[in-house]
Amino acid sequence: MNIEFYSHGACQEVTGSKHFLDVDGHTLQIDSGMFQGHRQEAYEKNRDLPFNPADVDSIILTHGHFDHSGALPIMVKNGFKGPIFSTSATRDITNIILFDSAYIQLKDYEYLKEKARKYPERDLIAYEPLYDSQDAVNTMQHFAGHGYHRTFEAIPGVQAAFYDAGHILGAATVHLEIDNGMCIGFSGDLGRPDLPIIRDPEILPPIDYLVLEGTYGNRLHESMGMARESLEKVIRRASERRGKVIIPAFTIERTQELIYFIHQLTRERRIRAIPVFIDSPMAVNATSIFKIHPECFDRETVDYFLSKNIDPFGFETIRYVTSVRESREINDLEGPAVIISASGMAENGRILHHLKNHIGNPRNIVAIVGFMAENTLGRKLVEKHPSVKIFGKEYPVKAEVVTLNAFSAHADYQEIQGWLGRHDLDRLKKIFLVHGEPDALDSLRHKLLDQGIPDVEIVQAGIRYPLPAPLP
Ligand SMILES: [Zn+2]
Repeated sequence: MNIEFYSHGACQEVTGSKHFLDVDGHTLQIDSGMFQGHRQEAYEKNRDLPFNPADVDSIILTHGHFDHSGALPIMVKNGFKGPIFSTSATRDITNIILFDSAYIQLKDYEYLKEKARKYPERDLIAYEPLYDSQDAVNTMQHFAGHGYHRTFEAIPGVQAAFYDAGHILGAATVHLEIDNGMCIGFSGDLGRPDLPIIRDPEILPPIDYLVLEGTYGNRLHESMGMARESLEKVIRRASERRGKVIIPAFTIERTQELIYFIHQLTRERRIRAIPVFIDSPMAVNATSIFKIHPECFDRETVDYFLSKNIDPFGFETIRYVTSVRESREINDLEGPAVIISASGMAENGRILHHLKNHIGNPRNIVAIVGFMAENTLGRKLVEKHPSVKIFGKEYPVKAEVVTLNAFSAHADYQEIQGWLGRHDLDRLKKIFLVHGEPDALDSLRHKLLDQGIPDVEIVQAGIRYPLPAPLP
């Protein structure tokens, strides 16, 4: 059999995941993510695919994050006809991600077109949307759901099964078994032990090759237990001085983790029962997806909540806010409260209104619970700028800004090595590293070689790596 592995995305970078396995002329793609970053460069990389989507026989989607799923409609629009295999929770998360993306692309296009019309001298480019809502609808029709550990034929001669990745709801690592006996693992995005709600990363059956992510190949996180503890301290401090806690958070997973912890802390009377607002229509939708996928929950969630018939995401003082009117009313509210809102990097969305209204009051706390990219408002807050620009106006930062570093959905290098170490590695010939900046991958490569992995290669985009068959 002729077997080759190659990638066209997330090679020495962290976005645009697109990996491929060719087996005797059939092509299986793993993930189809959007490139993000510098606008024009990312746009062109997303538009000009270096392969023909019509040549891909089927796609396996490891999880719903935009940098893994966002380019699926581009595939379908350009001739991809096959099935998209995922867990059912991943399908539901991808559903909201794709429609949100189609809408944002349209809004961006209209905004830039209008701006270009107003200021012709500025040479502005309005980027046409890469897909619309109808393309998202068409894409959703390709999905075929499979539960964890259920084997299915991904392409002729290749059996696949999903295992828990412990990253976000529905996220999976993938085990492939080829007819010649060769087994290949794909880590997808590898999560961490002890994340709330979802199960820990699972061990794969024996593998000959592993495609492994290395986002934090050179970093260590604090434990998730620390995350809950520091959240507790922040809420208590704000409560005592009758201030509000404002948290910009990603709508999928991070928001639900915060709700879960606050629910626990309130039940255990470690914090006072104060109003908690989830002010983001997308976060409200995402939370309803969590509610209908208990098959992804870990033992702790079942024991703590479900076995007592308690909804982990519903309690007396929590309010899910969708309307703009309600969102505005939160601003007039006196007394302590927690406001969790999007966007996660505080770049746009309702969080800007809350920051504008609360950042000038020293009683309030802005809690940063996620990665903030360079040049975002979130990053400026982390870096403790004395004032920040919101809606074009400068506001002094008088509220306390706290960064809670323990929140992360990606394994750090010790957690990657720990996960790997629990595997039966007798057969493992080689690890291919993807999904990381060059420094992170280089550092992880050395650590893995020290750990005794015989061969570790940092994947380069477009290079075809033949995978020799195992000896009989
Ligand atoms: Zn991810």
